[in-house]
Amino acid sequence: MTSVSLASVSKVFPGDVVAVNNISLDVADSEFLVLLGPSGCGKSTTLRIIAGLEDVTDGEIRIGNRIVNDVAPKDRDIAMVFQNYALYPHMSVYKNMSFGLELRYGGNSLHRIWKRLTSPTEAANLAAKRRGIREAVRQTAQALRIEHLLNRMPRQLSGGERQRVALGRAIVRQPAVFLFDEPLSNLDAKLRMETRRELSELHQRLSTTMVYVTHDQTEAMTLGQRIVVMKNGEIEQIGNPMEVYDRPETRFVASFIGSPPMNFVAGNLTQNDGKLLFVASGLKIEIDQKQQQNLMAGDKQRNAELGVRAEDVIVEKGVIDGGMNSGRVSLCESLGDSKLLYISVNSELSSKQGDATKLVCRVEPRAQIARGDDVRLRFKTENLHFFHLDSGDNLVLDRG
Ligand code: ATP
Repeated sequence: MTSVSLASVSKVFPGDVVAVNNISLDVADSEFLVLLGPSGCGKSTTLRIIAGLEDVTDGEIRIGNRIVNDVAPKDRDIAMVFQNYALYPHMSVYKNMSFGLELRYGGNSLHRIWKRLTSPTEAANLAAKRRGIREAVRQTAQALRIEHLLNRMPRQLSGGERQRVALGRAIVRQPAVFLFDEPLSNLDAKLRMETRRELSELHQRLSTTMVYVTHDQTEAMTLGQRIVVMKNGEIEQIGNPMEVYDRPETRFVASFIGSPPMNFVAGNLTQNDGKLLFVASGLKIEIDQKQQQNLMAGDKQRNAELGVRAEDVIVEKGVIDGGMNSGRVSLCESLGDSKLLYISVNSELSSKQGDATKLVCRVEPRAQIARGDDVRLRFKTENLHFFHLDSGDNLVLDRG
């Protein structure tokens, strides 16, 4: 059982490429932590720093109680699974999985003879451990449902099967920390979902610390106990999946988490008759009581960007009268368990202005609303977000 921590870690590559900029991060013992962010944000570099595959420019890395800055990767008690896993092509699946353990418990036969001569007790210990290898491989193969493949060569496996073998090879070593770098991205959608579930089960069973890199927010939401959202080599927010979903601290986090992505509409916050309103092209929304005090902070009017998730818009069929909070459905997508409506807000007015506000809204799968319908819009105001136009900070959150 091992924790991992990074303290003020930076990595600058030659040519002044700042891949990781002064990040501090604690991964608790037995935690499943996901590093999430767009391509180039520094997540792989962070993982490779933990693995010891990259030196740091600055900062300190600990695995357990040990500072490991100068410890070689093989001595860090970690196992890493990459997107482009490389199995040994000339070894069977069994051998691919057992090879690391065999090396650890005795190496080649000459080495074993030498050990028997020089240190008989240690040699006996290692021999006992070697006898356990077969069972360890079998158990892991069973858990990953690749037991029937143990005698095959890698070239005789599908991509998904090879990926499982790569996972199995890491698991069988029972490292203190698993590091995963987009391990599922070569799999098709169905297999990715299955392997994702297996990874979750595996984590529950093994209770080993796991750090997992992905740019896929669904993977992050479903696997992570906590998610670290990264941007430009820095940490934007750390939280459990529902925290980052419901309480995104910045527009960037809000836009990166959730599918379809959150809707954003630029407009003004104005006070009128003691009420606080958000007004934009075609929209006028009365702000929820609880959110008011954080939003106004003394200003009479300020610019802000509304952030609203697809499921927080209530859509009702109705005649468009040129008024606020109405629109026309321009596209309808049935997803089976729900329906997405793409709505041009107050289209008649907006098309004159050439500036239609567009919203994507999620409704019941069998809602009787179709393309071309005129609709009225209401909002679950307690779930709305308002972002600062320049900094992108979420103005609704009480930062205490
Ligand atoms: P992806 O999802 O595309 O793998 P990432 O978030 O994992 O992206 P990194 O691979 O960590 O990003 O790269 C972060 C930044 O560091 C990028 O700008 C990348 O070009 C740069 N970088 C990574 N490795 C090197 C290297 N060896 N030399 C120079 N620059 C590098």
